[in-house]
Amino acid sequence: MLGLMQDQPLLISSLIEFAERHHGDAEIVSRRVEGDIHRYTWADVAKRSRQVANALGASNLLFSDRVATLAWNGYRHLELYFGVSGSGHVLHTINPRLHPDQIAWIATHAEDQVLCFDLTFLPLVQAIHARSPSIKQYVALCDADRLPADSGIPNLVAYESWIGGQPTTYEWPKFDENSASSMCYTSGTTGNPKAALYSHRSTILHAYAAALPDVMCLSARDCVLPVVPMFHVNAWGIPYSAALTGCKLVFPGPAMDGKSIYELMESEKVSYAAGVPTVWQMLLGHMKPDNLRFSTLKRTVIGGSACPPAMINAFREDYGVEVLHAWGMTEMSPLGTLCTLKNKHLAMSPEEQMKIRMKQGRAIFGVDFKITGDNGEPLPWDGKTPGDLLVKGPWVVREYFKGEGGDPLINGWFPTGDVASIDADGYVQITDRSKDVIKSGGEWISSIDIENIAVAHPAVAMAACIGMRHPKWDERPIVAVVKKPGAEVTREELLKFYEGKTAKWQVPDDVVFVDAIPLGATGKMLKTRLREMLKDYSLPSA
Ligand code: AMP
Repeated sequence: MLGLMQDQPLLISSLIEFAERHHGDAEIVSRRVEGDIHRYTWADVAKRSRQVANALGASNLLFSDRVATLAWNGYRHLELYFGVSGSGHVLHTINPRLHPDQIAWIATHAEDQVLCFDLTFLPLVQAIHARSPSIKQYVALCDADRLPADSGIPNLVAYESWIGGQPTTYEWPKFDENSASSMCYTSGTTGNPKAALYSHRSTILHAYAAALPDVMCLSARDCVLPVVPMFHVNAWGIPYSAALTGCKLVFPGPAMDGKSIYELMESEKVSYAAGVPTVWQMLLGHMKPDNLRFSTLKRTVIGGSACPPAMINAFREDYGVEVLHAWGMTEMSPLGTLCTLKNKHLAMSPEEQMKIRMKQGRAIFGVDFKITGDNGEPLPWDGKTPGDLLVKGPWVVREYFKGEGGDPLINGWFPTGDVASIDADGYVQITDRSKDVIKSGGEWISSIDIENIAVAHPAVAMAACIGMRHPKWDERPIVAVVKKPGAEVTREELLKFYEGKTAKWQVPDDVVFVDAIPLGATGKMLKTRLREMLKDYSLPSA
């Protein structure tokens, strides 16, 4: 017997319809590429995303055709999120930090038909258009009078002209909720990048889950600043969850330095923010010298790479801001875990609570977890035993776009490539990427643990731990360190700093001071490149 409830497909268009009807006057504030502040409402987003849909219709695009973006977090990008997917096309957000060769490859592989870009990325578009034959229409996200003359880019139109003449009415089409809605290529450290192809259904389910109190805890009372970029994994799904809850949104545009973010947070009364640790490091670095305070910020989600406990502490103790440590990946839309306490933890001491808060968090309903050993055998959830982390759920990839890389699943589970332990309460602690794990004398050393200790030292801005070949122990850890500007610390002082904070055999064998640690397009440390940088290095103990 089937249930007798209405059968309505879960479609992204319903989010913007809801936001317009129920939260039409909630504000969307954007710092534009031009530097000024733009301000309008969810009702305006809805109206203009219908114009986007009409513009795409006028361009004779077919259902599921890809529309690419190279854009910062801003109101026009938000309109494309709803206008493109809502009208049955696929929004392909491209990471502008990738190499132009990779961008041209990705655009061609995705068969993008239209490319919408912020003017910041004009040189990038000039570099790739001749190598991106599928793109028929280029749209510069600007007013008509800012359209560059003689750009050399064919079929280039200003966004405001492109949508300007279009009707503001549009009937959002109804179609199968499993239809593709958007796509994002992984950074692809090996081989060509591969694309996660999200569906309307996976996006709506993820948006519901993300808004839950034990997940991002978003509501109509929040004023949310996503520093996490809309060009990578849909800004962790915040644009969708924001429409679902009707919160106020504040977009930083290209200005992600500590000063600009701080000023925006204060002037717009931001209560909630989301970003990767490096962005928050810049923010705290800006605030500390002048003893600046947050007047409205209450919570911030930090993920994308491990959030050092020192940062969680600084936000909580120095600024009264709750940090929600999050873990996920492109292939998971991206959310997998969020770290919030349970009722039974509330009576614990702050120190005991901190041990939980520094983990990546526990499962969100909708994502199943398991950890396995070398032969695929399930490992215990004892909070100690590390293993390969596998996931499954309705917003986890089944396969990559165009079947690239073959079947990624192992008996229906997606191998994340991360190594983690899980405790009896289900809290996941990521210890490494599997390729970065350090095996010393048959034991595993977590590079994240070693890095977290280093960055707790007041003179350390950034740290990356890698394993070096060792004749006796196979591998031994060393830590590459970037000092804070003007700060001093010696190798010996730093090694001493490890005493009592980790087992003796896990203390790195050496500290190497570097000017910078190479970062990839999504802001993660590129340990492969760091290893190349240190190829002539040899261990003092070897
Ligand atoms: P991406 O697909 O670019 O979003 O990268 C996903 C990867 O980033 C994960 O597989 C992890 O290796 C890493 N990552 C994301 N969040 C965290 C976190 N909170 N702690 C440790 N690693 C993380």
